[in-house]
Amino acid sequence: MVDCLFCKIIDGKIPSKLVYQDEQVYAFEDIDPKAPTHVLIVPKKHLAGLKEAGAEHAEMIGRCHLAAAQIARERGIEDGYRTVTNVGPRSGQSVFHLHVHLVGGRDLSWPPG
Ligand code: 5GP
Ligand code: ZN
Repeated sequence: MVDCLFCKIIDGKIPSKLVYQDEQVYAFEDIDPKAPTHVLIVPKKHLAGLKEAGAEHAEMIGRCHLAAAQIARERGIEDGYRTVTNVGPRSGQSVFHLHVHLVGGRDLSWPPG
């Protein structure tokens, strides 16, 4: 999508610190990290968010989560991390290209705010 920040990052039009990519998934460091590990994992195909997803998006969503688990394993943070998808403006979603936040490397309180 032309005017989407994360599509521009995936296309290399806006620089990012790449963490991982494959045919379906692109993962990069969050510009404003909230923890020692804060990686954003996004599908390469544009999808606005979880509430816009259908059954045809099941694989790309699953692959984003599997990439998060793999990155967490590689970074040695499996003693506690969180995968978060904000859905809708009231949750704090600010970029409307589906993304999974991988947050870890410190104690995480529950419930989140
Ligand atoms: P949301 O608020 O939609 O759940 O998450 C959007 C995330 O994108 C935020 O954590 C924010 O810090 C991050 N972000 C916003 N703009 C950029 C950018 O230009 N580059 C990178 N790497 N992250 C960004
Ligand atoms: Zn997009």
